[in-house]
Amino acid sequence: MTISANDISFNYGSKLVLKDITIHFQKGFLYGILGPNGSGKTTFLKILSGVLKSELGEVIVDDILINTMDPREIAKKIAMVPQTTSINFDYTVEEIVMMGRYSHIGRFSQESPEDKYIVEEILKKLKLLELKKRSFNELSGGELQKVIIGRALAQNSKIILLDEPTTHLDINYKIEFMMMMRNYVEKGKIIIAVLHDLNLAAQFCDRLILLNDGKIKAFGTVEEIITRENIKAVYNVDVVVRKNIYTNSIFVTLLNIQEDSNNRAIRKNAKKVHVIAGGGSAVEFLPSLNTHDVSIGIINVLDDDHTLASELNYKIVSEAPFSPITEESKLKLKDFLKKVDVVVLANLPFGKYNLGNLEILQESDKPIIIHEKEPIEERDYTGGSAIRIYNELKKRDNVKIVKKAEDILKILNNMRG
Ligand code: ADP
Repeated sequence: MTISANDISFNYGSKLVLKDITIHFQKGFLYGILGPNGSGKTTFLKILSGVLKSELGEVIVDDILINTMDPREIAKKIAMVPQTTSINFDYTVEEIVMMGRYSHIGRFSQESPEDKYIVEEILKKLKLLELKKRSFNELSGGELQKVIIGRALAQNSKIILLDEPTTHLDINYKIEFMMMMRNYVEKGKIIIAVLHDLNLAAQFCDRLILLNDGKIKAFGTVEEIITRENIKAVYNVDVVVRKNIYTNSIFVTLLNIQEDSNNRAIRKNAKKVHVIAGGGSAVEFLPSLNTHDVSIGIINVLDDDHTLASELNYKIVSEAPFSPITEESKLKLKDFLKKVDVVVLANLPFGKYNLGNLEILQESDKPIIIHEKEPIEERDYTGGSAIRIYNELKKRDNVKIVKKAEDILKILNNMRG
């Protein structure tokens, strides 16, 4: 099972929309197609599915030119989930999913028990069983999307093409859906999905295709494609690209936030924030603080938090690696703490080299947001000194403790004046 595009070019009227696209898709891979609006993603998917015919170049499915296959033959090999679907008649959810079986049902035959079983299983998997008698026209955007996905899955084809399949799904269901797709590719299918969420693509795809202006700008692994340079070149935005130390997947955070009215409000409400971190403990939230005035330290120059903070142009109180905190740095930190509105204490381990941070924090009376993912007892290498100070801080009235990193920003944005 393979599908290839060879030298595809395509135009709508005189407008050239795809230029010399050549790509060979292999079984067992989940491919993500990325690119800004109008870069040709949907058009490319339509050509791969045979919905649009290109006169220049060819699409070959299992050694057969797609332009020579009839729709029924194509449907046995390729299922397509388009971005929008209008269904004119009042079919039920179950009937729509059954439509996916039509390429398998003989022209004059009825649905078999097997067809019914397959449809039932898909409804179950997509959590649509309760809706199965519901009319398609009465569904929410997310439900509708799932039904169309269900119809495609019912085709039981080896190749699945998805055009922004998760747009209307809730965040938890997005993840569940992408995991379901990973499961299919691991069983040998080829899935090619247009995705606009770079982080979702980074987390679940094996290979990414970055389209720009109808051409392949880059094709490769997630690490190769999701780079600051590629994103800047294609989307014209500044991002930081980091590895999530917990899931090991790459994630992207937007830096040059558009100044819409909402963000202006946030900026007006910008706080002076000092972060105490280390060992990469602030990597997951540092970029999101960039509408505030951020400083970090005392932190050693080889630390991941240090690298990221300097990329983000935050102020840093630096220290040489593997050396105790100097008096000079201590004075600097004290000075920073005098001026800030709030301190964020990340979920970092404490040893003798960085305990000074906690000791100086203890002398300050500024509000503190503590990000606590693991109890301090599991992060103490000071023989109990860190535990003692940490627990004393936690008792203060102006200290908030959060488990989830995103709550740090929420608290900052909601703080007054
Ligand atoms: P993407 O999916 O990346 O947003 P599309 O493939 O939908 O891009 O569109 C690529 C370009 O082709 C766009 O400039 C779009 O306006 C144009 N286009 C898309 N569909 C049509 C059409 N049916 N007729 C004319 N131009 C079209």
